[in-house]
Amino acid sequence: MTVLPIIITGDPVLHTPAEEVAQIDDHVRALVADMIETMIAAPGVGLAAPQVGVRERIFVFRWEDEDGALHEGTAINPELWIAPIPLGALDEDDESEGCLSIPGERFPLRRSDRAILRATDLDGSRYEIDAEGWLARIFQHEYDHLDGVLYADRLAHPHDKEVVRAVKKRSWGSPGRSWLPGVDNLEG
Ligand code: ZN
Repeated sequence: MTVLPIIITGDPVLHTPAEEVAQIDDHVRALVADMIETMIAAPGVGLAAPQVGVRERIFVFRWEDEDGALHEGTAINPELWIAPIPLGALDEDDESEGCLSIPGERFPLRRSDRAILRATDLDGSRYEIDAEGWLARIFQHEYDHLDGVLYADRLAHPHDKEVVRAVKKRSWGSPGRSWLPGVDNLEG
């Protein structure tokens, strides 16, 4: 297994919808193993294939909840149903999220509190997870990656402007940029 470079915002692979996976073969199994290792090394709670430069509808997730239960899995060709997004003021402490493709930055974003994920796992079986709270947020964030959408694209005023400034300040936003977990330190 290998830790892969993570593509930084501005590269077309992050901003273009990914393709359905036709077959779970050795290529997919090796990719998923590398994605899990990369996610853990980063560290992050989720990683989508476009973030490692692969245009396929796959994401991995690994998150420990407040009670210490580990939620982890591989989602191939996922579908996502989300509850209506609640209205009201954003809570910067509870609703700020980050992205390994915009490393070191966090901005608040309203998400749905509940999401139902239906996906295929590595052994080819279809499964469903009914998620609430942060796990629902992870699913929404990772699913968006497969449609070429970053959380930065969803930010409301004034955070939409702030993320553009942050990206510009770090000289990102153009193709071909990446960072390698364990080698590059891109924290705030
Ligand atoms: Zn992300």
